[in-house]
Amino acid sequence: MGDLVLKIDVDTYQGLGKGVPRLLERLDRHGIQASFYVAMGPDNSGKAIRRLFTRRGFAKKMLKSNAVRLYGIRTALYGTLLPAPQIARSFPDTLRRTLAEGHELGIHGHDHVYWHDGVLTLSRQEARREIDRALETFADVVGGTPAGFAAPGWQCSGSSLAALDEGPFRYHSSTRGSHPYRPRAGAIEGRLAEIPTTLPTVDELLGQGVSGERLLELCVNSFGNRDLDVLTVHAEVEGGPYVEFFSRLLERLRGRVRFRRLVDVAGELVANALPVCEVIQGSRPGRAGTVSCQAI
Ligand SMILES: [Zn+2]
Repeated sequence: MGDLVLKIDVDTYQGLGKGVPRLLERLDRHGIQASFYVAMGPDNSGKAIRRLFTRRGFAKKMLKSNAVRLYGIRTALYGTLLPAPQIARSFPDTLRRTLAEGHELGIHGHDHVYWHDGVLTLSRQEARREIDRALETFADVVGGTPAGFAAPGWQCSGSSLAALDEGPFRYHSSTRGSHPYRPRAGAIEGRLAEIPTTLPTVDELLGQGVSGERLLELCVNSFGNRDLDVLTVHAEVEGGPYVEFFSRLLERLRGRVRFRRLVDVAGELVANALPVCEVIQGSRPGRAGTVSCQAI
């Protein structure tokens, strides 16, 4: 039986306020522990709307995956017509509950939109500032430091890897790939283990026009090809309109996989013994733009 990590990314105010409690309830019902990564700072989702006008792929994704339905109209305006609300500081009880129920809580950046759109050109110091802000909020809201960091939008660069190496993290999960490795980008060779997302996300499958029972079958059948699979789940999608789908998926996976948290997987890895792989920008079917990928 293979291991499966549910890596749950929380990008927005609505995702933490509404999506996470729904996901916690479903996970509890199935007795599953997962790893959550929260964008700790402001919700500037409205700024991502700018991509509508600058990238053709984004418009297509919006239409196909019905992003306004997924994210809600308020979220679509945060940081533009509406002020950007603070994500982590608005829901301290939800974050404490996540930890109290045995899940892992890590960081998904400070400002998701800023990192997603800019990290490839940020300096090490600028990336470090984003990471430090997120760590500060984490310490203020729940105390302590997280073990894991998941890059917003699977975007990482030599500068961001160097900045992460300076932090308190034990691992990161910032790319798409097939197995744990140590990442190299340009002249930078990362010190920490990178545990990549191995499976397509539900929103990518929706973006390819897959839906209904076919979506469920495709998800269920995609497991089991590796010793370890990492599925990225979005609080705004599987914790939003697709929550019943998510619950059915968990039901179907019972007995087929062993659910684990990333921090526990990372604890068994020796970073120095991992293969070093190049990180390159690549595309994924159903997703607009590029993501950082493990080159094999
Ligand atoms: Zn994200």
